[in-house]
Amino acid sequence: MNTSEYNFKRCKLCKKTVAIPIYALSDSTIYVCQNCDFHFLNQLDQQPEKNKTEELLTEKSRQYIELRIDENNHLRQSRLHFIKKYLNLFQSETLDIGAGLGQFQILLNEHGARSKGIEPSSLRRQYALEKFGIDLHSELINSDYWQTGFLQHFDLITLWDVIEHVDFPQETLKLATKLLKPGGILCLDTPSREVFPYQLSQQVYRLSGGKISLFLPSFYSTVRYGHKQIFTSKQLSDLLERSGLEIISSTCSYTNKMFSNNKIILAGRKTAPT
Ligand SMILES: [Zn+2]
Repeated sequence: MNTSEYNFKRCKLCKKTVAIPIYALSDSTIYVCQNCDFHFLNQLDQQPEKNKTEELLTEKSRQYIELRIDENNHLRQSRLHFIKKYLNLFQSETLDIGAGLGQFQILLNEHGARSKGIEPSSLRRQYALEKFGIDLHSELINSDYWQTGFLQHFDLITLWDVIEHVDFPQETLKLATKLLKPGGILCLDTPSREVFPYQLSQQVYRLSGGKISLFLPSFYSTVRYGHKQIFTSKQLSDLLERSGLEIISSTCSYTNKMFSNNKIILAGRKTAPT
């Protein structure tokens, strides 16, 4: 399904056909569900073209990747610290969805995990293999590769800054949960809608009669794999629970610093076989 085929009046979260276009941005519109207040962009990624030749890693793309290679080192350590509170990684089976360059997998492996990762970008996969010797998977979570070969297989599945990018978050979480063992842990983080810049932008948009969208465009993106939905903490916790997970941790920051409350960080444990 692509952008022109989906009826965006159908809420991507509660599936009721009561969403309406509220915030018009320059190249897209944010729909708001009148039932569950979910905010999502009228944008979906196109399906990958079949038989498309794989883009090869060039010196230019290599340099572009290397410019940003260390920028999330500290965040990765915080994420590792977070999951270690709920899971002994030694000899655990782990899957990182949206693995980037495989750097989180390296951390997991250092702690004895048997890790796998999914990364849709062929350039990032090539770079991960060349630089770190990490062989990331191109098969997405809905593929037979995972859904027949790895049911109830993993102790840990992570989605760091991923759920805001996918076309259909509910479906992604259900498919991921199927791959968890009963008792397995799913951890994720994503931007929150309950932050001052978002709330201020909504008010300014209303007061200006739609002329000023302020920071709203920075929360969303129409590029392929861009941000398509921004959750509230409750919306995402409820979604995890509907996917068969019991919330074992919900927080908004990896640190205790003031003014750093800017994310939704959740851990859920699979309660029953699905
Ligand atoms: Zn809804």
